[in-house]
Amino acid sequence: MSGTIAFIGLGNMGAPMAANLIEAGYTLTVFDLVEQAMADAAALGAKQAGSAAAAAKDAEIVISMLPAGRHVADLYMGEGGLLDAVGKGTLLVDCSTIDAETSRQVAEAATERGLSMIDAPVSGGVNGAKAGGLTFMVGGEAEAVERASPLFDVMGKTYFHAGPAGAGQVAKMCNNMLLGILMTGTSEAINLAVANGLDPAVVSEIMKNASGGNWALNVYNPYPGVMDNAPASNGYKPGFGVDLMLKDLGLAMDSSLKNGVATPLGSMARNLYSVHSQSGHGGDDFSSIFNLLKGQSLD
Ligand code: NAD
Repeated sequence: MSGTIAFIGLGNMGAPMAANLIEAGYTLTVFDLVEQAMADAAALGAKQAGSAAAAAKDAEIVISMLPAGRHVADLYMGEGGLLDAVGKGTLLVDCSTIDAETSRQVAEAATERGLSMIDAPVSGGVNGAKAGGLTFMVGGEAEAVERASPLFDVMGKTYFHAGPAGAGQVAKMCNNMLLGILMTGTSEAINLAVANGLDPAVVSEIMKNASGGNWALNVYNPYPGVMDNAPASNGYKPGFGVDLMLKDLGLAMDSSLKNGVATPLGSMARNLYSVHSQSGHGGDDFSSIFNLLKGQSLD
């Protein structure tokens, strides 16, 4: 592509994703509500815009990476929203993790205006975003997915076309419910091992190579000091916030109620993350759930 990419939302994930696109030679115009986030992107070569609509006006592709459904609905369909600001051929790619229903609504509204839109939430965490190693789970028309694929190749290691609009969000919701359960279970197991006198690094290595192995043990150990580049070794910052995990588990619980599907472990994980958030840890990385379990154990 020869045109500009508008990148909206330069937080923990958006900033490194945008940085990789700039590094790969794409021309970016960026917008975030936080001035510093835009200044950081500008230092790498991006052009700053005064609003999301200004960033998107002449863009060939718009990428958004915002916290939740209400932000995405507002960005595209609110007053001065992007659906009415972009040119006809613009491709819209929302990488935020949001509820599938909002995602479908925005995509439908885009289609009504003759625009292509895909949902493309990601997995891989902040380190995955920095390394260009994300996994994209994509919903939408095959042609639009194909058009966005060179960008997925820069920001990620792989992408999957899950189905029509909203399907990427459904896949992501299920994945993150499993992740919340796995992070809680991994924390529980390490906490029990340490209470029994085992070295957390040793027991983590054992479980990693045994039948309890999982992503948290492989790249995101919740015990401080076991893994140098994991948020746990940096005071549980930055990373994937407790409140973002709580949001994702809430999406899964809404869907389980709506569809009458049993998700007892997802429900338990959501309760634990809710308690943890209400104790003042909403902004910490989600692996800090380890501290909730540790705090509830006898010394
Ligand atoms: P974040 O809170 O760090 O960043 C969100 C950014 O969006 C902030 O910079 C904020 O200022 C900006 N923003 C909010 N509303 C805006 C608006 N209207 N216009 C412009 N900018 C706006 O969040 P994050 O960790 O980067 O996560 C973003 C999304 O990616 C979330 O949906 C999250 O669930 C998902 N996600 C996060 C991770 C992770 O490890 N952090 C991993 C996978 C997916």
